[in-house]
Amino acid sequence: MSEEFRPRAGVHYPRSAGELRSWFGTDADGLDYLDWLRWPHGFVCPQCGHAGGWRVADGRYKCATCGKRTAVTAGTLFDRRRTPLTVWFEAIWLFAWGKDGCPR
Ligand SMILES: [Zn+2]
Repeated sequence: MSEEFRPRAGVHYPRSAGELRSWFGTDADGLDYLDWLRWPHGFVCPQCGHAGGWRVADGRYKCATCGKRTAVTAGTLFDRRRTPLTVWFEAIWLFAWGKDGCPR
């Protein structure tokens, strides 16, 4: 993520609990979102640093250069998760948004 990155409500994160649920109805939706947040310009291999790769059957990305597979959740708090992503997103969103309805 670049230093200029400024999350915008309704673009980078949901504006309301209802929008949250419509965005992240399933874990697959959540994974797509993580892909996009992590690699907004496409997959970049964390192993060799080269851009370019494709998604393989298990949902991970395979690097076109070194062939190493990477999960979008690798190295994040979602790694080896035992909690469904949908639950995580709701908890994180509620934390980020706060009780007063204003992003912190
Ligand atoms: Zn690679």
